[in-house]
Amino acid sequence: MGNIRLENVKKAFGDAIVIPDLDLEIENGEFVVFVGPSGCGKSTLLRLIAGLEDVTDGKIWINGRDATGEAPASRGLAMVFQTYALYPHMSVYKNIGFPLKMAGMDKKAIDDKVRGAAETLNLTDYLNRRPGQLSGGQRQRVAIGRAIVREPKAFLFDEPLSNLDAALRVAMRLEISELHHQLKTTMIYVTHDQVEAMTMADKIVVLRAGIIEQVGSPLELYRTPRNRFVAGFIGSPK
Ligand code: ADP
Ligand code: MG
Repeated sequence: MGNIRLENVKKAFGDAIVIPDLDLEIENGEFVVFVGPSGCGKSTLLRLIAGLEDVTDGKIWINGRDATGEAPASRGLAMVFQTYALYPHMSVYKNIGFPLKMAGMDKKAIDDKVRGAAETLNLTDYLNRRPGQLSGGQRQRVAIGRAIVREPKAFLFDEPLSNLDAALRVAMRLEISELHHQLKTTMIYVTHDQVEAMTMADKIVVLRAGIIEQVGSPLELYRTPRNRFVAGFIGSPK
């Protein structure tokens, strides 16, 4: 289960109102992509959902429970960052197992989960390596592996592929889509890349200055963009 609802969410940093008043419903199992220009509030929105930032006003519901005041660890969501945030001195195995160790899980159970995730992500041969000995794509897979083992209610991706070269980006895009197919877990994916949005999303949320311009499937937005801004962003002819 990974149903997430934002209700009248507002976020201000001091006097700067980044998100004035936002409502959004994300269904369990959906692949939702937030798109919009740099600075429009995509990362902030993701961090509010993750609990890494507090809302200024409004509520965040996770599986029907009011999670607004909850600490990130209690929300059961997993965030995957563009900079990987791996521990350079730890092996791939330890990097993936780290959140489970922190949660106090026993060694055998950790081993099962780490090996399972490694298999899903084609990392079995790399478990003894350190992040510095891996390619960018492999590092990103380790970061995803560390999220998978926690069996989160939802994965939150913040521009996970923006550090990769174009060819690798295409490959990883397919891998993440495949992972979604396999796990059927809710995924919220932030990008400013319209190709990623159009090819990966069940539902696209187009943001401008903290306001939702339009929500819809890639096809809906392409065929019936509500305005020029959406059309421009989606690359539709309107
Ligand atoms: P995006 O991810 O869409 O590029 P962000 O969510 O990072 O946008 O930022 C949205 C706006 O909020 C920007 O104007 C940014 O400068 C501002 N902002 C983000 N985080 C902070 C912060 N911790 N303190 C002050 N301003 C912030
Ligand atoms: Mg951002």
